[in-house]
Amino acid sequence: MSKLEEKFTKAAYDPLDARHHGAIHVPIYQNSLFAFPSYDQFDEAMKAQLSHHIYSRGNNPTVQYLEMKLADLEEAESAKCFASGMAAISSAIMSVVSQGDHVVCVNQAYGPTKEFLGSYMSRFGVETTFIDGSSNEEWRSAVRPNTKLFYLESPTTMYFELQDLKQCAELAHSIGAVTIIDNTWATPCFQNPTTMGIDLVVHSITKYIGGHSDCIGGVVLGSKELVERIANNEYMLLGGIMTPQSAALVAKGLRTLPLRMQRHEESGLYVAEHIAKLSFVTRVNHPGLASHPQHELGQRQMSGAGSLFSFLSNEPAERMKEWANRLKYFKIGVSWGGFESLVTVNRHMSDEKAGDEPVAIVRLYVGIEDPRELVADIEQAWEQVKGL
Ligand code: PLP
Repeated sequence: MSKLEEKFTKAAYDPLDARHHGAIHVPIYQNSLFAFPSYDQFDEAMKAQLSHHIYSRGNNPTVQYLEMKLADLEEAESAKCFASGMAAISSAIMSVVSQGDHVVCVNQAYGPTKEFLGSYMSRFGVETTFIDGSSNEEWRSAVRPNTKLFYLESPTTMYFELQDLKQCAELAHSIGAVTIIDNTWATPCFQNPTTMGIDLVVHSITKYIGGHSDCIGGVVLGSKELVERIANNEYMLLGGIMTPQSAALVAKGLRTLPLRMQRHEESGLYVAEHIAKLSFVTRVNHPGLASHPQHELGQRQMSGAGSLFSFLSNEPAERMKEWANRLKYFKIGVSWGGFESLVTVNRHMSDEKAGDEPVAIVRLYVGIEDPRELVADIEQAWEQVKGL
C-alpha cells in the first residue's frame, strides 16, 4: 500500500464510538459542562482529568474525536487542537522554553511565528537566533549552552526552502533541545516529522486540513508526555481552545484530505512547470520541481508536495499586481488550503537596488479547479498587461 493509500484508510477511520444513534458524522457536543451522578464518579474523573469529560476548556468529545483522527494520520501518539494555528504554535513554544533560554529558528518561518519568537518572547527573557537553516553547520554554529528549542518550518512560507529533519532532530537531541516543526504545507499526508525524530508537529488547520476556507484552527502533535504537558498547562491556562463546531467542520474536511492532496499535488506541479516557461518568470520555488536546489532532500523526507509555491519575476511588483487584478480564477488573498486558487504579489527587492535581479515575488496557491484553466488564466492575464 502506498503512503497516500494508507492515509485514505486512516482518514476513514472512526476513533471513538461517536456515532450516537447511528449518526454518520460526529455529533457536535455543544456543552461547556459534563455532570456526574455521584461524587465517586466525579472524583474518579478529576483524577483522570484529560481522559474524562469534565469541562470543555479541557476536553470536549467532538474535539477529542478530531484529535484522535489527526494523531493517527500524523503518526503521533497524541494531539491537542487549538483555536488557530498561532494558538497551537505559541502554546507549543511556551511549553518548551523558560526565562533565560535560547531558541534557533529558520529565518523564513511564517511571519507571526517569527514575531512571536523574536519580539514577544524576548519580553520574557527568551532569545532567538534566526538562521537560513539549510545546512547542518549553520544549526550547529547557532547553538549556545542555553539552547532549548530548534524551530523548523519545512518548506518555508514564501521561498519554500527545506531543512533536513533527521539531522536537525539528531543535533537538537545531542544538546538536550526540543524540536518543533510547522508541517502545514506538506500535511500529514506527505510528511510525518515524528517518524524522523521531530518532537512536536504543529499545523494551521485553517489551511489544507480544514480544506474549505470556513474555519480557523490549529493542532500540536507529538508524544503523549509532551502533548499532555501542553494540554495541562498552555491549553487549560491560556484557554485558546478549539470549539466543537470547528472540530466537526474539520472532521468533515479531514475525510477528503488525502483525496484533495492528491489533486493539489498534481495540479500544483502542472501549473509550476508551465509557469517556469513564461517570459516574466525568472525562478519557480517549488520543492517538487527537479530545478529546486533541495529537490533530492524533499524526495527523501516528503512523499508528495503541496500546491502553494512562489515565483520570482523581473517585472516590477506594480505590474505583477496589475496582472493579478486580471486573473479570473486566482483570487487575491492571504490564506490557502481551500477550493479556490489564490495569488499574492510582494516586492522581492527595491527597484533601485535590483539591477538585473528579480524585483517581484508572487505566491500562488493552486486550488481544486481544472489546472489547464488555471494556466490559461495566468497567460491571458499576462497578455493584457505585458504592453502596459
Ligand atoms: N503556519 C503557516 C505556514 C501559515 O501559513 C499560517 C497562516 O497563514 C499559520 C501557521 C498560522 O495559522 P492560523 O492563521 O490558523 O493561526
